[in-house]
Amino acid sequence: MKKRVYSAMRPTGELHIGHYFGAVKNWIKMQEEYDCFFAVADWHALTTNYDNPENIKEIRRQMVLSWLAAGLDVEKAPIFIQSHNLYTAELYLLLGMFTPVSWLERCPSYKDMINTLSHKDLSNYGFLGYPVLMTADIIMYLANLVPVGVDQVPHVELAREIVRRFNNFYGEIFVEPESMLTNVPKLPGLDGRKMSKSLNNTILLTEDADIIEKKIKTMITDTKRQRKTDAGDPNVCPVFDYHKVFSTDEERAKIIEGCTKAEIGCIECKKILINNVENFICPIREKKKVLDKEIQNIDEFLAPSQKKANDFAAILMEKVRKAIKI
Ligand code: SF4
Repeated sequence: MKKRVYSAMRPTGELHIGHYFGAVKNWIKMQEEYDCFFAVADWHALTTNYDNPENIKEIRRQMVLSWLAAGLDVEKAPIFIQSHNLYTAELYLLLGMFTPVSWLERCPSYKDMINTLSHKDLSNYGFLGYPVLMTADIIMYLANLVPVGVDQVPHVELAREIVRRFNNFYGEIFVEPESMLTNVPKLPGLDGRKMSKSLNNTILLTEDADIIEKKIKTMITDTKRQRKTDAGDPNVCPVFDYHKVFSTDEERAKIIEGCTKAEIGCIECKKILINNVENFICPIREKKKVLDKEIQNIDEFLAPSQKKANDFAAILMEKVRKAIKI
């Protein structure tokens, strides 16, 4: 039997290439190898964006269209909306009854996020409790594996602790999920910092060709290389990080040689990148345009996937209620 994978993404903005190489690319591979459930975690978006929910619905739709354009297939793995499965809210509530608050307060991401989002008031209960909601998401589908980056491992560990506590109190119902560390290439933002919508340093997965060109032209390079006649160091250049993802071995070898010997200028180097990024993005952008016209109602399109997820949850929640004797 195939192992089950659960993964989700918050609908907080349009997908960028960091999302693709950080998650979606792996999902596309996993849908062939595992029994996958992929979700749009819209309740999670509310834990930090509770004061600005207006766009969540449209972003949710755009996000699913981008996933489909990139290669996810609902015939291979269901894609569903978290908030359309109310059993998740029930499980979240029940898990909250016995999850110690201290477990949540010690989550490293809790303090990190409060510092990162210092402009927001994150003293809300939902934000503190979001690892419990994440646990409900994962264990609802009896997922064995959760693809995560290193920073998310503590959340999966917490989910395992919550499962152990539940199974200990009420009997063996849930499966302890395991983190599945995925290979993610380094892809910084255009300014060399972490790629993030809020830092305005991203390239969207469906970016137009002229914007791709404009954005890459303004990318930071090896800051010590002032002129073409100065030798550069691709190892400290964000443009080269992109070449590692988008260019061929042959192109990279040519750039290393040319940059370190001051034989190639940054403009020429970026031209190669512009061309390769456009070649990668173009089919996704065009496919998404077609899907955007074809799929007007995303909820209707996802209905069979949603049913699969909800039916699975309904059966499980019957067992949970019986176990808790409620
Ligand atoms: Fe970076 Fe390319 Fe310029 Fe070298 S030639 S510093 S790798 S942009």
